[in-house]
Amino acid sequence: MEFQLTDDQAMVQKTARDFATLEVLPKAAEIDRDHRFPKELVARMAELGFLGIAVPEAYGGGGMDVVSYVIAMEEISRACASTGVIMSVNNSLVCDPINRFGTEAQKQEWLTPLAAGKKLGCFALSEPEAGSDAAAQRTTAVKQPDGSWIISGTKNWITNGPVADVCVLFTMNDRAAGHKGITAFILPMDTPGVRCGSPDDKLGIRGSKSSQIFLDDVRLPDSLLLGEVGGGFKIAMSTLDGGRIGIAAQALGIARAALEDALAYSQTRKTFGKAINQHQAIAFKLADMATEIDAARLLTLRAAWLKDHKLPYGKEAAMAKLYASDVANKAAREGIQIFGGNGYVTEYPAERHFRDAKITEIYEGTSEIQRLVIANYLTKGA
Ligand SMILES: Cc1cc2nc3c(=O)[nH]c(=O)nc-3n(C[C@H](O)[C@H](O)[C@H](O)COP(=O)(O)OP(=O)(O)OC[C@H]3O[C@@H](n4cnc5c(N)ncnc54)[C@H](O)[C@@H]3O)c2cc1C
Repeated sequence: MEFQLTDDQAMVQKTARDFATLEVLPKAAEIDRDHRFPKELVARMAELGFLGIAVPEAYGGGGMDVVSYVIAMEEISRACASTGVIMSVNNSLVCDPINRFGTEAQKQEWLTPLAAGKKLGCFALSEPEAGSDAAAQRTTAVKQPDGSWIISGTKNWITNGPVADVCVLFTMNDRAAGHKGITAFILPMDTPGVRCGSPDDKLGIRGSKSSQIFLDDVRLPDSLLLGEVGGGFKIAMSTLDGGRIGIAAQALGIARAALEDALAYSQTRKTFGKAINQHQAIAFKLADMATEIDAARLLTLRAAWLKDHKLPYGKEAAMAKLYASDVANKAAREGIQIFGGNGYVTEYPAERHFRDAKITEIYEGTSEIQRLVIANYLTKGA
């Protein structure tokens, strides 16, 4: 077992840390306050190769491993959780399924610009009546005599939706077949009949734009089918397994931000004649935060390593997301406590971390769903 980063991974970490510290962090408060999509940071992530890190270079990606993706995600989310999720969706939820299930022609046409950051992607599985119960899809896809498909329905909460060029879309083509009736498509967002609702007004990750997507008799050629007819559920679930590693890394970044900001504050704020980190109650909080963050990082890197080695990783990814999101929420809550009254106002970053942390327990499977996934693996003896 090896706990040291390779030279390549260390280089990714340095590049991501420099970018996050020098370019992302100075803008994070403003992005949050103004609910601003950080277009210029997305362009820089494209230049740095962060929008398709683990995609082969032949398809426009960075040709790196999933461990490198985790490392970069943590650094960028430490500076700005909104920028982190924009990156995570493009890598995990869009490039990854097209890389694994797309035809050669689809990879050339769609994966290559997505991985290079020339296009931005979104992933549309959730619907008003299908969140945790993803198999309850109501968006219909009906095959036409000429071989094309007509798609109608509504998708909910789609991260990057309002700013995306391409969508990995899930539909129901045979409701009687249950989850085996789900079919995936690559949807160009400028296809006639596609419309995004107003951006969601969110508690946190306010720089990330999400919205409903309305699909009104959208016609797609059969060449945009992703995988097989009826194979969409498998694509969605396996994609979310990988996505959870990315969200665990986002949670790690938020937790680290909460710790680092609280630690710095605790060294300068004085009460009763000494810095508050000299009070054991505060010092122990910081010690617990640091220990739990390390444990969450190890779980996350283990899941990434398993994926890199083509070993089963579904249970480990669910454990990483479950634990890291819990750690992020706890660290953010304790961070506010360490800041005292200053933790409760927008002048300091602690309240932003608290608002940003919450989403990591909700999207790509709530914490309850992660527990169900883990328990199912245990029942199967895995
Ligand atoms: C900001 C944001 C961005 C998002 N981005 C995307 C995106 O890009 N693409 C996408 O497809 N989706 C996206 N989502 C949707 C997200 O994945 C869902 O919100 C999430 O899966 C939960 O579904 P739901 O909101 O319908 O809640 P529900 O499924 O209605 O769940 C409500 C509550 O019941 C619990 N629950 C449900 N079923 C069970 C069960 N069997 N056992 C125990 N508890 C249960 C849940 O854990 C939760 O606490 C996003 C959501 C948000 C808020």
